[in-house]
Amino acid sequence: MIRYRLRCAEGHAFDEWFQNAAACDDRLKEAAVACPECGSTSVAKGIMAPNVAKPASVATPCGQPVCACGCPALDA
Ligand SMILES: [Zn+2]
Repeated sequence: MIRYRLRCAEGHAFDEWFQNAAACDDRLKEAAVACPECGSTSVAKGIMAPNVAKPASVATPCGQPVCACGCPALDA
């Protein structure tokens, strides 16, 4: 399961669980996800989406996607 932060056309942000990234895309494509606040199905993945162009999901303290500085996150 994967959780995405979604945002509707009215700017409401909410979280939704999906089976995987492809399922999320399918559900959004089919307009099967509705905003809980306004009911809009014009919903897009928000800033927490893992496949946005810019590196939004940085997992290491040093800020590098692949850490080369030996920071503790590598031991996890
Ligand atoms: Zn909304």
